[in-house]
Amino acid sequence: MKRKTARKPSTFFPRKRLGQHFLIDKNAMEKIVRVADLDPADVILEIGPGRGEMTMLLAQKSQRVMAVEIDRVLASQLVDKTASLRNVEVICGDALKVDLEAMSRHTEKRMKVVANLPYQISTPLLMRLVSFRCLFSSMVLMLQKEVALRAVAKRNTKAYGSLSVLLQVYTTPTIEMLLPPNCFFPRPKVDSALVRFLVHKTPKIKIDDEQALWRVVRAAFGHRRKTLKNALKSILPEARFSEEVGRAMENVKIDPTRRAETLSLEEFARLTDGLRPYLSSLGSGS
Ligand code: SAM
Repeated sequence: MKRKTARKPSTFFPRKRLGQHFLIDKNAMEKIVRVADLDPADVILEIGPGRGEMTMLLAQKSQRVMAVEIDRVLASQLVDKTASLRNVEVICGDALKVDLEAMSRHTEKRMKVVANLPYQISTPLLMRLVSFRCLFSSMVLMLQKEVALRAVAKRNTKAYGSLSVLLQVYTTPTIEMLLPPNCFFPRPKVDSALVRFLVHKTPKIKIDDEQALWRVVRAAFGHRRKTLKNALKSILPEARFSEEVGRAMENVKIDPTRRAETLSLEEFARLTDGLRPYLSSLGSGS
C-alpha cells in the first residue's frame, strides 16, 4: 500500500526529552482512528496530540476530544489550529498529573483513550490509566514494540512480566499494527506497535486485596530466574519463611519451586491469598 505522508514540521524543533516523534504516515493515522472504533457520542482523551493531525481526525468522528499536551508551544499552536472546532479542548498539562476524573464529567459514557505515547513515560502512564480504568472503555495506544510485546505476553514466555499481569488483569490487549521508524519524524531508534486495550469493568480474576497482589507480582518477577520461594523472600519476614510459608503456598496448590513466569493470572491471585497472612505483618515493603 502506498504511504501517504504528512508534511514534516519545518519551524519546530522536536524535543527528544518529551518523546516528540510525530506520526507522519497518514495510513497509520487512519488505521488508529479505525481501531478506536468511534461513534458520535464518544468522548476521547488524547494524550500528547503534538501537531494535532490525529486530533483533527478524531474530532470528526466523536462528540468531544480532550487533548492533553505538555509542550506549551505545541499546545498553543493546537489551540489556534482547532479554534474553529467546538468539540476540541486543548489542555496544556502533564498526562501523569491531570485530573482525569474532572475530564470524565463531560460524559455519561466511559471515555476512549487514543494516543501516540511519549515512549519514555509509557509505563507510568499505562499504570496511571489502569488505575483510573473505571473512566475508560478502551485505549488505543502507540507503544514501543518491546512494551507492546510485554503487554500481550502469555505465560512461559520471556516477555511475560509484572506489566503483562497488571494489564491483562484489567484489560484485553491486542496488537493491531507494527510500525517501522520511518513512519515518524524524527525517526525513533525503536520499532513501534499499536495496541488496543479493551478495558473490563471488573478484573478478570477475583482480587480480595489489590495491594497485596501487586506486591506479590512485583516481588515474584523482581527475581524472575529464582524460584518463587526465593524470589518472594524480599517481601516475607525471613524468620517465618521456609516451612510455614512453603506450606501456605502448597495449601493454595502453588509449588514453591516454580518460577514467576509460569504462573497464570488466576494462580497469582491464589498465591496472594495464600501469602496474605504473612504479607500483612509487614509495613510498607516492596
Ligand atoms: N500525537 C502526535 C503524533 O502522533 O504525531 C505526537 C506524538 S509524540 C510521540 C508524543 C507527544 O506527547 C508530544 O507531543 C509530546 O510533547 C507529548 N508529551 C510528552 N510528555 C507528555 C506528558 N507527560 N503529558 C502530555 N503530553 C506529553
